[in-house]
Amino acid sequence: MRLSQILISTLRDDPADAEIPSHKLLARAGLIVKIAAGVYTFAPLMWRTVKKFAQIVREELDREGANEVMLPIMQPKELWVSSGRWDRYVNDGIMFTLKDRKGSDMCLGPTHEEVMTAYVNAQVNSYKQLPVNCYQIQDKFRDEIRPRFGLMRGREFIMMDAYSFDADQPGLDAAYQKMRNAYCRIFERCGLAYTVVQADSGAIGGAGSEEFMVIADSGEDSILFCRESGYAANVEKAVSKLPPAPAGGEPKPLQTIATPDVKTVAQLEAFFPGWTAARMAKTVLYHVTWKAKAKVVAVMMRGDLEINEVKLTNALDALAVRLATDDEIKAATGADVGFAGPVNLPEDVPLLADESLQGVTNLLTGGNKTGYHCLDVNLGRDCRMPSWKELRTARAGEGCPVSGKPLEQARGIEVGHIFKLGIKYSKAMGATFMDQGGKPVPFVMGCYGIGVSRTPAAAVEQSFDDKGIVWPPAIAPFECVVAMLDPKRDEQVALADALYAELKAAGVDVCLDDRAMSPGAKFKDNELLGFPVQVFVGRKAAEGGVEFLVRKGMQKSECAAAEVKAKVLAALGR
Ligand code: ATP
Ligand code: MG
Repeated sequence: MRLSQILISTLRDDPADAEIPSHKLLARAGLIVKIAAGVYTFAPLMWRTVKKFAQIVREELDREGANEVMLPIMQPKELWVSSGRWDRYVNDGIMFTLKDRKGSDMCLGPTHEEVMTAYVNAQVNSYKQLPVNCYQIQDKFRDEIRPRFGLMRGREFIMMDAYSFDADQPGLDAAYQKMRNAYCRIFERCGLAYTVVQADSGAIGGAGSEEFMVIADSGEDSILFCRESGYAANVEKAVSKLPPAPAGGEPKPLQTIATPDVKTVAQLEAFFPGWTAARMAKTVLYHVTWKAKAKVVAVMMRGDLEINEVKLTNALDALAVRLATDDEIKAATGADVGFAGPVNLPEDVPLLADESLQGVTNLLTGGNKTGYHCLDVNLGRDCRMPSWKELRTARAGEGCPVSGKPLEQARGIEVGHIFKLGIKYSKAMGATFMDQGGKPVPFVMGCYGIGVSRTPAAAVEQSFDDKGIVWPPAIAPFECVVAMLDPKRDEQVALADALYAELKAAGVDVCLDDRAMSPGAKFKDNELLGFPVQVFVGRKAAEGGVEFLVRKGMQKSECAAAEVKAKVLAALGR
């Protein structure tokens, strides 16, 4: 392939909206071009990269016996109503919906559990046809709140999504393990440094899920891990061991104290010397939405700890939670913001508390009356006993739940996610097969996703330098470029052509840079584009000499044309 025939348009500057290295570099190299927020065109070289990654995904999934299919992007509302997810996705605002000319509601698939379950249900009647695992590689549509970071969080993006169907739980466990192994091979082949973490199952639902995280400072996910035990979890899911709360002692009589303008934990610590945050219980009011109702709920948390909204949503089995507004707080409790508490909390406001407060006596809480706090509150004596839940955000430095050693923190980019769904969808949608006894039973399902457009961006995030992209060879647009520095000089053209042909014959994915541009610009352009191995044919061509560059580490050398093939193959690890 000649680069003169490929549309390449590198830019001099980073685009103004690019915040992270991969976005800056992919845009500056002209590899992605924005058309709307979170919607991109893939330029020819980038599309080669995406196709190479998709091919690695295919090979490793096919090896595990998965079947590639292609499902419709446009889906009828009824399908989503049958699984019970229409309301949640519409309420979240994540789903692009549209109406057809008859006024029927449709959506553009943000994920495909419904379509796949309906498809397999129609095809599979008997346990004899199981197990089945189908996947597709296709555009997904999600109206993300914050589309950003280029390909990392798009509103139209490419995903591999796979769904496994088994007769029973051991079958699902085996299917899940196979996919997990395939995922490890996929990310290893791409040369990515990744880690597998326990994850929340989110809106998809089900029990048991793990995420594949590419470690990078720009990652939107926060991971807690322990080197000793190997425990690793997304902070949305992570648990930790806390040192015990300071003893409250024997219950004392309840006191209500005027605390005008004292609202925050820090202000309370100053106002009540000796009362540390760990002896306080803050009461935070949330507006919670379920399918058929919405309500304000009070959540108590130890003053030095934070509420994890993902855990809260799960504990309430809610569609969504958000902090209540000042007006909602006043209406629910009768008090202004900053004074909510469990004492005299109206009966119709449900009261939840984090387990870290269980058994703690003589707490400091809001007075549920503007300008007042209560001291020596004893839950169950001075107010209702709250319902106890695990609602706390675990933090670095707290104890690993397995080893007890301090947890460490890292940022990660989620490139893949595997879930054990169980019978959540098959049961809701009435998707069953006949078991050995001739009885209809629901399929036991798993689902598995990989960010096919996000992963190459994550690879750049892990592999770049001040000169540009440093593609891992497995997903580079080309493994090698042979560039003639002056296409007007016959001996350069002849030598470059010969080297190109020789490398191609040796199975190298090589391109020929025959573009008319100055040698300096050509070096720079190829450095930015990041081909792993670069051969420059210049003035020394007459004597059969070339310049050789291994892009990773910018290792430059000169060598004889006769050595080029061996050197390229060695640099590519062949
Ligand atoms: P995130 O937490 O990053 O929003 P998710 O949990 O919504 O991800 P899944 O629904 O599990 O993601 O999708 C499977 C994979 O698709 C993810 O692991 C990720 O790699 C990719 N992905 C998800 N959302 C996007 C997006 N908006 N743009 C690009 N890739 C995405
Ligand atoms: Mg998401």
